[in-house]
Amino acid sequence: MASLNKFFWRYRWHLSLGIVFVILTNYFRILAPQITGYIINTVVQALDPANQSSPVESLPDYDFLVKKLIVAFEVFDFKKKIFAGGIVLLITALISGFFLFMMRQTIIVMSRLIEYDQKNEIFEHYQLLDREFYKTHSTGDLMNRISEDVSRVRSYTGPAIMYFINLAAVIGFSLYFMIRSDARLTLISLSSLPLLAITIYFVNSIINRKSERIQALLSTLTANAQESYSGIRVIKSYVQEKPMENHFEQHSEEYRTEALSLAKTEAIYFPSMALLVGLSTLIAVMVGGTDVINGVKGASVGKIAEFVMYIQMLTFPVSAIGWTASMTQRAIASQRRINEFLNTQPAISNNENPTTTPIRGDIHFKHTTLTYPHSGIVALKNINIHIKPGEHVAIIGPTGSGKSTLAQLILRMMDPTDGCIMLDGIPINHYEISYLRNNISYVPQEIFLFSDTIKNNIRFGSSTATSNQIMEAAKSAALLNEIEKFPQGWDTIIGERGVTLSGGQKQRTSIARALLKNAAIFIFDDCLSAVDSETEKNILQALEKYIQGKTTIMVTHRIFSLMPFHRILVLDDGEIVEDGTHESLLAQNGLYARLYQKQQENGAENE
Ligand code: ADP
Ligand code: MG
Repeated sequence: MASLNKFFWRYRWHLSLGIVFVILTNYFRILAPQITGYIINTVVQALDPANQSSPVESLPDYDFLVKKLIVAFEVFDFKKKIFAGGIVLLITALISGFFLFMMRQTIIVMSRLIEYDQKNEIFEHYQLLDREFYKTHSTGDLMNRISEDVSRVRSYTGPAIMYFINLAAVIGFSLYFMIRSDARLTLISLSSLPLLAITIYFVNSIINRKSERIQALLSTLTANAQESYSGIRVIKSYVQEKPMENHFEQHSEEYRTEALSLAKTEAIYFPSMALLVGLSTLIAVMVGGTDVINGVKGASVGKIAEFVMYIQMLTFPVSAIGWTASMTQRAIASQRRINEFLNTQPAISNNENPTTTPIRGDIHFKHTTLTYPHSGIVALKNINIHIKPGEHVAIIGPTGSGKSTLAQLILRMMDPTDGCIMLDGIPINHYEISYLRNNISYVPQEIFLFSDTIKNNIRFGSSTATSNQIMEAAKSAALLNEIEKFPQGWDTIIGERGVTLSGGQKQRTSIARALLKNAAIFIFDDCLSAVDSETEKNILQALEKYIQGKTTIMVTHRIFSLMPFHRILVLDDGEIVEDGTHESLLAQNGLYARLYQKQQENGAENE
């Protein structure tokens, strides 16, 4: 929880003002029992003038402010005294209410501010973490920590802390005045309160355990339902509606049983609380009443009323102890989970003095090996390639040969296990990461589009681009005609609840995005696989204009001699097996020639 201290420090004014308001609201609340006691004693005296005990007798036990008022009221007659007492009660209630409002306005507001900061902090950290992290943690887990766990911590920084301070203030004030008024009666009447606190603590932990279990059952139920919606086509085609229904019903049944059991426990909660409070009240009335009858010095009817009110006041804060304690425990667990992620250092980070020297595009792989940490797969083995600035290189090879891995290494999505990669003679890990990535236009193999307008998707990462440039990029990616045919045109929302693009359209949107960025180096990772050969030809022709004189790497598993690549690298099982021009590779009569042969045959069949 120490990691929360910086937030408490940041909002120290909220917190300290909050504490002041808690004290003030309780101070004004605690005056009510005393004034009530005074009023009742005044009435008792008026009804029975023979009674020796005068209301002014209790004066020394009262608060300074109450004393002053009572002395001032002495000049009034009976009726006026009662009336004035009523007015004072009303005013103190209003003042207390005002400070109660202010207390929530400071402490609860502070907890919301901390929640906001914490969410931002976690999100910012998530953005820094590398793909290795994302591969080993599920989206659900990431979402939970930024929403569920943060809100549990908020229950601690807000309500739990507030109730705790409130409890301290209420206990402090009421015990002080109760003991001053009658120490013996206080001890006797409050003897059952610790029992109340302990009972509530236990009942609360049972309730918590049950709620946790219900929460878990609910997420299974939701996941279950969600899967059956998204998989509805498979379910229907395999006629599995009934089994799915039974499956759901079974989980639903379990959930119901648990929920009912929780309701039962909760039903015990309030009656048992009322019982124990009732016991305290009963004792106060009994012992206090006996004292009045026996004419014990200092005993009065007003005092009984005063005590009953103190006991009522103590009830809620004391019963909140259990809640506060369990809330704090949960917050500790949540904060631990949050810290676990916040303390995860990204594997890829900037050097001490990262460089931002202009990039020309000379890429040199030196004995580069990459082994994936979790699977142990050696995706690239001792790669040595030198791509000169402005060179256009095609990389081909069967699936799984390591083409995408090679492309990602240039973007420094991960660091090589062995060897290094030089960019313009400088190891790429010396470049500032954002600078390096800003200088590469990359079309990943797995396309990702945001559920936003098509225009914003293309503009992603190039916020300053003009409409003309966006249009130009879309045109070069052979997408313009289709965009203009959409009823909403450029503002068509894609993805969730929007138009669903075809595989080829998605690829072309992704290409347009990279073209718009127009960086020093272009890397296309198999980005034309879902595009027909006619469109492919058009795109490749349009690309020329962008990649002129720029280092370009095009990964593909289709061979096309349409574009004059300076060089073709053939990857097989993580190794460069051939390197040369189209003609020289054909002449070598190796893997490339075989792949080419095969595709020529398939192509002829298709036509
Ligand atoms: P290509 O792009 O040529 O199809 P990849 O570079 O994607 O090949 O993959 C090369 C090898 O590395 C494959 O054997 C693949 O299973 C493995 N691989 C790829 N990505 C990962 C990853 N994130 N974690 C573990 N292994 C991976
Ligand atoms: Mg690939």
